[in-house]
Amino acid sequence: MTKVLAVLYPDPVDGFPPKYVRDDVPKITKYPDGSTVPTPESIDFKPGELLGSVSGALGLKKYLESKGVEYVVTSDKEGPDSVFEKELPTADVVISQPFWPAYLTAERIEKAKNLKLAITAGIGSDHVDLNAANEHNITVAEVTYSNSVSVAEAEVMQLLALVRNFIPAHDIIRNGGWNIADAVAQAYDIEGMTVGIIGAGRIGRAVIERLKPFDVKLVYNQRHQLPADVEKKFGLTYYPDVHEMVKVVDAVVLNAPLYANTYHMFDDDLIATMKRGAYIVNNGRGEEVDRDAIVRALNSGQLGGYSGDVWYPQPAPEDHPWRTMPHEAMTPHMSGTTLSAQARYAAGAREILEDFLENKPIRPEYLIAEGGSLAGTGAKSYEVKKGQKSPGSGNEDN
Ligand code: NAD
Repeated sequence: MTKVLAVLYPDPVDGFPPKYVRDDVPKITKYPDGSTVPTPESIDFKPGELLGSVSGALGLKKYLESKGVEYVVTSDKEGPDSVFEKELPTADVVISQPFWPAYLTAERIEKAKNLKLAITAGIGSDHVDLNAANEHNITVAEVTYSNSVSVAEAEVMQLLALVRNFIPAHDIIRNGGWNIADAVAQAYDIEGMTVGIIGAGRIGRAVIERLKPFDVKLVYNQRHQLPADVEKKFGLTYYPDVHEMVKVVDAVVLNAPLYANTYHMFDDDLIATMKRGAYIVNNGRGEEVDRDAIVRALNSGQLGGYSGDVWYPQPAPEDHPWRTMPHEAMTPHMSGTTLSAQARYAAGAREILEDFLENKPIRPEYLIAEGGSLAGTGAKSYEVKKGQKSPGSGNEDN
């Protein structure tokens, strides 16, 4: 009997389902590049429902049971006595969301003798040790594009929240105050600022499109230069070297994947070369920045603000310094798991499972690794070196 093990975040504290404030979500059929949203044979949920928590079960229960598949869903993922650790050795498929990652370290993969497929319900498969997955011929797939626009919308909001000093100003009225001088002492307009995008892929492109009407100067850094017509349309300047780019920007929006190349990209040295008071928005992955370097730079005033929803590890411990540092606009990892996004990536997980169970090929754009090497989108996004543990996957030496 095939066994699918899903590690999902816990249900709402007030119980499941939550009281929905809207009756539907807009129907999206195509992504901005023309590719289609997931196309499973059918779905057993209503778009807009909470699917990412344990009781939501990604809307897969009915389907998997109808196929005679054992479907185990848990949020208990930490430590040797966790349900995840206990069920893993006999699981054929693991499903996890980056918001509540089931870290698949090399050691865990070693124990998972039956594991054939690791599905990321969302985008970003750094929580899987990709090298170990390749060595064990495990397919890794994610639901490409499913929440890229969701994240881009959040990043624009986060950037504005920092520059306009929204959260401290909001705290003033929440606490009964009205001191306008305090509210504006760190508030600026974004108009005319130079914003640097790191990783101009699906999220980065959507951020660029959304920021353009704010009359900012847009610069970008990524592995490959964008076509000349795209650069012209958005007035983009390409910086092949991130070190050169950060010197000229007022703010950085970071959405590159996490791998050896981007691990701790923003450390004390790089941050020291930025303009005093620059802002960083990072919804890429927590480990793309040095945790303590961010805290130091906010305390010294070298950074004007930091906003992100990605941490390491996740869930973040209660004493994580990002919870209490100054000039932050932090949230738990949520930008890619709006109810709107969940409908797409749950349908994508279903599509991948249908293909897997029927021995059909998985859409190439969903593939991260297959047949012992990086594949599809994974070959464009990540790099792995034999014998090297991937950052983000829960290895102790990260
Ligand atoms: P994408 O593959 O379309 O884009 C990634 C881009 O990063 C590519 O254009 C690639 O060329 C570029 N890149 C790779 N290495 C780089 C480097 N060293 N320096 C600069 N750029 C580099 O993927 P996407 O949909 O835009 O998602 C990107 C990442 O965002 C994911 O891998 C994930 O880590 C993160 N993400 C976060 C959330 C969230 O909820 N916070 C949700 C989705 C994705």
